Formats: sequence, C-alpha cells, structure tokens
Amino acid sequence: MVQQLKFILTLEEAASKGVSSPSDFLKLKEDAIILARAPISGVQDAVLALASSDRVFLGVNVEFEGLPLHHSISSEQFLVANLALNFEQELHACLLPSRFYLESFEEDVPLLLVPQHNRLALSDPVSAAEICANREHCSHPKCRALTAANKSYAQYSKCPSGVALICEGEVYKGWCIESAAYNLSLGPVQAALVDFVARGEGKGFEMITGAVLMEMNDANVSQEATARVLLETIAPGCVLNVFHCYKTAEN
Ligand SMILES: [Zn+2]
Repeated sequence: MVQQLKFILTLEEAASKGVSSPSDFLKLKEDAIILARAPISGVQDAVLALASSDRVFLGVNVEFEGLPLHHSISSEQFLVANLALNFEQELHACLLPSRFYLESFEEDVPLLLVPQHNRLALSDPVSAAEICANREHCSHPKCRALTAANKSYAQYSKCPSGVALICEGEVYKGWCIESAAYNLSLGPVQAALVDFVARGEGKGFEMITGAVLMEMNDANVSQEATARVLLETIAPGCVLNVFHCYKTAEN
C-alpha cells in the first residue's frame, strides 16, 4: 500500500521525496491533492508551505456533503489552521499566495500566528471545578476545548472560541482564526476538523461521537448554532456540549 503523504513533513521527510527547497514543492502537489475532500465541487486543491521550524505544512480543501459551500475549508484556511494548531509562528515560503492569510496593518493588532492568551475561565462553577490545573497538557475534551479557546485568534470580533472533537478515544482541537478580511475567518469547528483530517488517518467525519464548544457568555459572534448545523450534518451521532466563559482579569 502506498504511504499517504502526511500533513506535516520534517525536513528529512521532505528531502526523502526530493524536496529541499520551496521551488521543489510542485513535486509534492500531486500527492497532497489526493488528501483533499471535495465531494461537492469535485475540485481538489492543495497548498504547501515552509514554516520557520523548517517543517513543510500542507493545506487541502475540505467540503461537507449536504451543507452550503460557505461551511467549506479552503486549502489556504486549512494551511493556516495547520500552522496555528502546531504552534508555528512564521511562514517562510508558500507554494501559492494565500487568500486567507491576510493580516491587519493596525499597530495594536498582533499577527495571526503570534500565540494568544485570552484569559478565559468557565462561568459555571461546577463545570469550572472539573477543569484540571494542568489543562494545557490535559487531553480531557473540556480541558482541551478551554485551552483552545484561550489560544484563539479573535482580534476582530473579540469573541474567542475553541472546540474539542472526540473520535475513538482521540481528542482533536481547534480554535477560531479570524482573518482581516472578516468573511474569510475560520470557525472553531472547522479548525478542529483540520486537526481531525490532519491526524485522523483518513477517518470519516461520521465517526466523530462527541464535541465540546467553549465560547464567551453573550458573545456578539456565537458559534453554537453553526456548530450544531455542521456537526449534525457530518456526524449525526455526535453529542455537542456547549460551555460559556468569561474573561478573567489581567494579573
Ligand atoms: Zn483535564
């Protein structure tokens, strides 16, 4: 069986495929494209990028059968989420110019891949008591979703949110990643689905059985309704639990 291309390649892994610089990326594109999930358009797309850690990152487009195309993840959105979820802070080179990676030029807006610390805590004391002290390294879905919300990039809406998805004992995470071109922003469920596609070894979305969404109380931009529509369609057996947070004081 042919080994599928991974969504993150070390320098050595890329070199073993004949890629030693971004000018060689086209050699990987064919293998990358088959990882795309495009049941609606039938048009598979892939983007490759070299990050500052010298790892090569992939992005592919993902469409969801039965849902309007605006729920889809473009290959550029996938790439940016793949970089952010793996704590890459800089992009060195990209095979295609990104339509998503649009930064603000306002001085007080941090760059998209700069680590965020949103200082969110759960509002409900009973749920808050269930969050582990070392939640950064904990794989409980609730701990992971709260950690994700705290890392989310919500500079424009100021409504950070995070999601954990559960499939066969594995927990996948994602957070909202807003673009300076507002309507190209990526929701937390889609970002978690990027993690699922990247690490899920080809598993189908219908195998996702649980999800946790963390978002702000009274958020101007709430993710709950759209998360329900998306998950009910692609993973009908998935149980979604929603928890609300508030911003703690800066210490
Ligand atoms: Zn925990």
